[in-house]
Amino acid sequence: MTDVGIPEELKDIIKGSIAGLTGFVDSDVLPLEAKYKEILHDERKLFGEDGLLAPEIREARDGIRQKSAQAGFYAMMAPESVGGGGLPWAVGPFLLEALNRKYGPGRIFISWAASFLSTPLLASFVDGPSHLFLQAGPAIRDEVLPEVLEGKKTVCFAVTEPGAGSDLWGLKTKAKRDGDEWVVNGSKQWITNAPYCDYAAVFAITDGEAFAAHKGGLTCFLLDAKAPGFTKDRPERIIGHLSSDCGGFTMDDVRVRNDYMIGTLGGAFQIAMFGISEGRMGMAGACLGLAQWALDRSLEYAKERKTFGVPLAEHEALQFMMADMAMEIFATKYAIIQTAKMLDAGEIPVKEICISKALSIEMCQRAYDKAIQIHGGMGLSSELMLEEGFRIARTARIPDGTSEIQRRTIFRQLLRGDTAF
Ligand SMILES: Cc1cc2nc3c(=O)[nH]c(=O)nc-3n(C[C@H](O)[C@H](O)[C@H](O)COP(=O)(O)OP(=O)(O)OC[C@H]3O[C@@H](n4cnc5c(N)ncnc54)[C@H](O)[C@@H]3O)c2cc1C
Repeated sequence: MTDVGIPEELKDIIKGSIAGLTGFVDSDVLPLEAKYKEILHDERKLFGEDGLLAPEIREARDGIRQKSAQAGFYAMMAPESVGGGGLPWAVGPFLLEALNRKYGPGRIFISWAASFLSTPLLASFVDGPSHLFLQAGPAIRDEVLPEVLEGKKTVCFAVTEPGAGSDLWGLKTKAKRDGDEWVVNGSKQWITNAPYCDYAAVFAITDGEAFAAHKGGLTCFLLDAKAPGFTKDRPERIIGHLSSDCGGFTMDDVRVRNDYMIGTLGGAFQIAMFGISEGRMGMAGACLGLAQWALDRSLEYAKERKTFGVPLAEHEALQFMMADMAMEIFATKYAIIQTAKMLDAGEIPVKEICISKALSIEMCQRAYDKAIQIHGGMGLSSELMLEEGFRIARTARIPDGTSEIQRRTIFRQLLRGDTAF
């Protein structure tokens, strides 16, 4: 890790955390990946007819999650006041950068599709203990949080619906008060970890008029995924994979207690935006690391593989591709560092978060395109995982705000006078 520019007070935390996390992956995760290699590399064995992971892989993932929780890694990014490690928000992108650079595509990333075992190493707002629980009352903290912290139960963060993704004002799911409970009806789609979650943080309209006037009216509730009327769909097949960790569910008169409301009545927009901002920075860091992994592999291959009597590294066309990758990685890294500094200073730099996400993910895809080209036919082989990196980078342009939505937000911030760089 080059740490030039990373805020001094974060450097030691980042180094120590990376050492602990990589030690855990090497000792507790890689041996299991070796044990289940055959299943992990053959999706016909990895996924059942129902699209769910094979039982032994689910068990192994659950085991890693719980071990990671015991070792203090799983909830390290969640606030201390909800029982997490309380690491500063600005640290997350650099942990994901380092892990992705070391272990490569499809592992320490939201495992939408390539379900390697190390995915549950670190919890995020879409599956485990996170800032979301800061907004939870005593009932959720007493009855749900302990098992979520231990990695025994997981959650999902369900905003998107069949009719509404980028435009939250198109949401249709409704919750109606009935005594001490709410009755929820609607459906959610494209929700990470929905197929496996025990609880779903569901965003539902509680005041139709306020919502129609774009003045709030949206509330978040924690629903039990086993409650009557809660039905999970088959997981999505994404970008060439037979299944994924993403799915939808329908809610047909699902009842939830009033004290399972997260945040305030009608105040869910802030919760959604905070979670999504965290997700954007995580993806920016992960894609930065994945791009470096692609450059590392390209350099190795270019030194080794010969054509026309010389190593590929001697062909100027390929030298320029790798130089371009390095230029883009460098520029992206410093955009992320600058954003992390602002986060560390207590700001929520909307423009910079959007810039970091769009820049890093789009850069990552260009890096994988070049890396595949440098590797020739081998670049397309699933053996090298370059094609998986390309698929991940392509996928990442959609969740937590598409590239267009990032640009829309950046431009809106510029119009508001936020033109400082
Ligand atoms: C792998 C994956 C994981 C996900 N995980 C979650 C999750 O955990 N929780 C959750 O709630 N959601 C999740 N999502 C959903 C994701 O947030 C939405 O897919 C995303 O916000 C885009 O919404 P949409 O798919 O409805 O596309 P749409 O909103 O219909 O957009 C379609 C196209 O139009 C463009 N567009 C829309 N509006 C504008 C505009 N104003 N200007 C310019 N272009 C515009 C978009 O950029 C896109 O290219 C996930 C999605 C994926 C693919």
